[in-house]
Amino acid sequence: MRYISTRGAAPALDFEAVTLAGLASDGGLYLPEAWPSLSRDEIAALAGLSYVDTAVAVMRPFVGDALDEAALRSLCEQAYGRFAHAAVTPIVQLDHRQWLLELFHGPTLAFKDVALQLLGLLFERFLSSRDTHLTVVGATSGDTGSAAIDALAGRAKVDIFMLHPEGRVSDVQRRQMTTVLAPNVHNIAIDGSFDDAQAMVKAMFADAGFSGRFALSAVNSINWARLMAQIVYYFYAAVRLGAPDRPVAFSVPTGNFGDIFAGYVAARMGLPVARLIVATNVNDILHRAISQGDYSAGTVTPTATPSMDIQVSSNFERLLFDLGGRDGAALAGQMKAFDATRALRLTNQQLTGAAELFSSARIDADDMALAMRWASEQAGQTVDPHSAVGLAAALASDLDPAVPVVTLATAHPAKFRDAVERATGLRPALPARIGSLFEREERYASLPASLDAVTAYIAERATPRP
Ligand SMILES: *Cc1c(COP(=O)(O)O)cnc(C)c1O
Repeated sequence: MRYISTRGAAPALDFEAVTLAGLASDGGLYLPEAWPSLSRDEIAALAGLSYVDTAVAVMRPFVGDALDEAALRSLCEQAYGRFAHAAVTPIVQLDHRQWLLELFHGPTLAFKDVALQLLGLLFERFLSSRDTHLTVVGATSGDTGSAAIDALAGRAKVDIFMLHPEGRVSDVQRRQMTTVLAPNVHNIAIDGSFDDAQAMVKAMFADAGFSGRFALSAVNSINWARLMAQIVYYFYAAVRLGAPDRPVAFSVPTGNFGDIFAGYVAARMGLPVARLIVATNVNDILHRAISQGDYSAGTVTPTATPSMDIQVSSNFERLLFDLGGRDGAALAGQMKAFDATRALRLTNQQLTGAAELFSSARIDADDMALAMRWASEQAGQTVDPHSAVGLAAALASDLDPAVPVVTLATAHPAKFRDAVERATGLRPALPARIGSLFEREERYASLPASLDAVTAYIAERATPRP
């Protein structure tokens, strides 16, 4: 399998190179040259398979020659063996047609574990036969940082430097990062906002000297391997609800458009997906883009769903590329104009293409709280605020009533205890597997929001290229 860049000017790479590279050298994002497909019989044969067996069947075509089937299976067994539920991503029924797909049974309680646990193992495996050391640098508003640190702690040939805005992530989120004491984990609390931290990370990647010297790498959802791992649970859930004979719809709490793009890929591979519902909070750029073709960024409004408080959704570029006839030069022009004006109009081809599969909804704080109460009163389920945004969109959708609707539950309610308590009056208990979090020692550096200070800190501790 070969991968090409959405901007058409970077070399095509194989799966191993694409995993280690993250972003393409022309500023674009990598995608498979052609979508693999699973036949109706192959999808039917997934019925009854374990999560790991499903993962091997779904990911095999994307991995190509980079890993043989036994190696892929072994990595999946290690990654998903750490989940607290034997089904890895179980589905739970809410009423006659509404379902939840629980993606939060991993070590850090958010869906990002599903992809990052595997990515950590892929890094280690691919680096073992190279003489390079990788320096992962990232900024987090909470969930990505904890999932990436858990996945990379103690792995050979990788260091991770994770920046978080001091005092602006929840206690649970901070401790999930700062109590990991492995020597290759470096937490940096920045005296500034998430945007300040993110801007510094971007500047480090843009500095060719620095990023080349330390082999910088990214673990955010622009990394293709992350999206690939997320395709699996769409198949796993849909087959349990009757696919390929019965189409299934999914409602996805969306921020960077990574999770829902994996659902789009599942549909392109042949899974009968009746609809993909893009659920946003009041930061609604994606809702405006899907419903009106207006992809224009404003300023971020902080909400109870911080992982969806974004203005620019990196992975949307992948959809625009695929729907626009895969014309790299045209897409590069469209994205360059967007960078200059922070606004972009979808072409007719992109807008009508999106409408065939996607719909969208903008969910405000009241609708979110109502959905949380509905889940609790009607179905005895406690859902986190992000999942509640997805559920509100699912409940509001106008789909054929015969189609089951699966909401992706992206975080454990205990990760956002205060917001859940405000909406439902119930304070979710922390699951036993992270029970001692509040007794463990913390370690992190506090630095000013200064690029020089942060690069100096990293340069002193990272391993340069040989
Ligand atoms: C990251 C995250 C999201 C958004 O996912 P995207 O792939 O960025 O669209 C939603 N909910 C939770 C809890 C998250 O951590």
